[in-house]
Amino acid sequence: MNTLTLKPGREKAVLRHHPWIFSGAIQSLSGQPALGETVAVHDAEGRFLAQAAYSPESQIRARIWNWDATAPIDRNFFKSRLANAIGLREQWIDRTQTTAYRLVHGESDGLPGLVVDRYGDALVVQITSAGAEAWRGEILSLLEDLLAPQAVYERSDVTVRTLEGLPERTGLLSGALPPQPMPITENGLSYQVDLVGGQKTGFYLDQRDNRQKCREIARGKSVLNCFAYTGGFTLAALAGGAESVVSIDSSAEALEAARQNVALNGLPEERCEWIVGDAFHELRTLRDKAAQFDLIILDPPKFAPTAAQARKAARGYKDINLLGFKLLRPGGTLMTYSCSGGIDAAFFQKIVADAALDAGVDARLLYHLGQAPDHPTNLAFPEGTYLKGLVVNRDE
Ligand code: SAH
Repeated sequence: MNTLTLKPGREKAVLRHHPWIFSGAIQSLSGQPALGETVAVHDAEGRFLAQAAYSPESQIRARIWNWDATAPIDRNFFKSRLANAIGLREQWIDRTQTTAYRLVHGESDGLPGLVVDRYGDALVVQITSAGAEAWRGEILSLLEDLLAPQAVYERSDVTVRTLEGLPERTGLLSGALPPQPMPITENGLSYQVDLVGGQKTGFYLDQRDNRQKCREIARGKSVLNCFAYTGGFTLAALAGGAESVVSIDSSAEALEAARQNVALNGLPEERCEWIVGDAFHELRTLRDKAAQFDLIILDPPKFAPTAAQARKAARGYKDINLLGFKLLRPGGTLMTYSCSGGIDAAFFQKIVADAALDAGVDARLLYHLGQAPDHPTNLAFPEGTYLKGLVVNRDE
């Protein structure tokens, strides 16, 4: 096995079990490991620290598999990590109410660069690291053994793969997919999900618990669901007894799916209004009409994938939250989210506070929300917490 030796002092993060080794931390490398090959990580004194997957082109030059020189990185290693990840979901997901959830959440499940989502009996995999790519055959064969899925479909159509020197890749890997879109259940509500053509791996599974929270507080309310996608929060609000729901999204296709999802559940279609358009524009139009809502959900796409884009992203968040506060009736509730890894919880809260101030609104923070437990965070890898939600009440 080749050895990657760190510069003096750069072993600290590794000893704290952070899984990433950046190119700048490396002193030397023996040999020329291939893309994704396992290397031994040593400190500057030559002491063993960890085993990691080498990625010659990435800034994240190696991703750690384990911190144990005696446990080889082999089929058994992956079997045990996958079994752990699956076991956690068995413990935390009520599978009588929910058939779609994340089985493997990358670094947070000790499997850097691997995401596996379950949609009924079908699996969607996303591979975003050279290491996971090198082990794809073994991983897929283990998923077959452990879960006997009806189909495994790959959605590695994400640009981060290019940072690892990997081409984007999609397609059926095994079995036969049910006709798409296919039905899934989340907290007892049905949604049609398109694993092949949908956004992400088909559905924003991470918002499951927050949709449930929305359902709990929606009774009798006029609701604005901005960035609605296929109606996750729209259906939750209607199921919770909302009086009306306006849903905005730039994707006509997503809103058409949302409309069908409302009908699929026998929810009151006459309480729905659908607006296809750019949220920044549509929220202004609503403001100019002096529209007011009791409950507003703002769930925009990732404005800042990394810290470098945070400043520009902050302006985007500020803008929509400012408009959100202006559209919020006194006494009303704002559920506002950021899924940007580049913006941490404290910064997001500050942006929302600034937006309230500029809108001339006094408001109380009631809940901090996050991603559902099938998207856990490894305590050693705080970057795993990416979804931040705030539930804020405007004063009467
Ligand atoms: N809340 C949704 C997920 C939202 S994902 C759920 O629970 O499932 C973000 C959504 O924002 C996507 O559907 C995307 O189509 C939409 N979107 C992206 N940019 C937009 C814009 N400028 N205006 C309106 N919608 C936008």
